[in-house]
Amino acid sequence: MITVNFTSPISAPRRAAFERSAQRWDETLNTSFAPVTVDGVTIDGVTIDAAITPIDGAGGVLGQAGPSVLLPGSELPAKGVMEFDTADVERLEAEGSFEDVVLHEMAHVLGFGTLWSRLGLIAASGTNNPIFTGPEAAREFGALEGGSARAVPIANTGGTGTREGHWRELVFGDELLTGFLSGADRPISRMSLGSFADMGYEVDYAAADPFELPSFRKLAEMGITEAVRICDLCRMGRPEPWVLGS
Ligand SMILES: [Zn+2]
Repeated sequence: MITVNFTSPISAPRRAAFERSAQRWDETLNTSFAPVTVDGVTIDGVTIDAAITPIDGAGGVLGQAGPSVLLPGSELPAKGVMEFDTADVERLEAEGSFEDVVLHEMAHVLGFGTLWSRLGLIAASGTNNPIFTGPEAAREFGALEGGSARAVPIANTGGTGTREGHWRELVFGDELLTGFLSGADRPISRMSLGSFADMGYEVDYAAADPFELPSFRKLAEMGITEAVRICDLCRMGRPEPWVLGS
């Protein structure tokens, strides 16, 4: 189970956005790991320290999110951090996208994109066509195309934290875990759950949202173009996780 530990004063509606996101990931992933002790505190499942504090005003740094402490053996997260800049949160709320950003960033805390490299799940890194090689995600990508398993194209643009840490925007469009927030629904696909299974999680595929690959026209209608876009999620920093007991 995911526990959100608020480390700054946060309003009830904002807390609720974190709580609903934790609940959504709990529906899809099993984080019932054996309890461990970190800095004298027992952690059962995954604990996320969450804060909203002034950083540098609107724009600039959005915050940081990622795993901070990994379990020995599986190297799945026991602890993680999510911090947002107050001024940016106000703008995201005005745009109606704050909760989707929280849901998206929580996936990074759980390892999406942030643990792929250390788990050896990326091939062709640094090229124009980096791919995610996990077999469960590959099977689900193949199924989306009505074909056999195929490695999944991952982000080949954007800075550190975006490139090779998300599904490729121009292929997957409004899926929650591309590097940009686009579209209106932002579904969590079976393919995304497959990537968590490839990391070692037990997942419930039945809890995925309906998703199909968008056509080029759909992508255009969602306002997705390759080069010019406001990339909020690119402005998130990532902590460097350490493995408990190492
Ligand atoms: Zn992201």
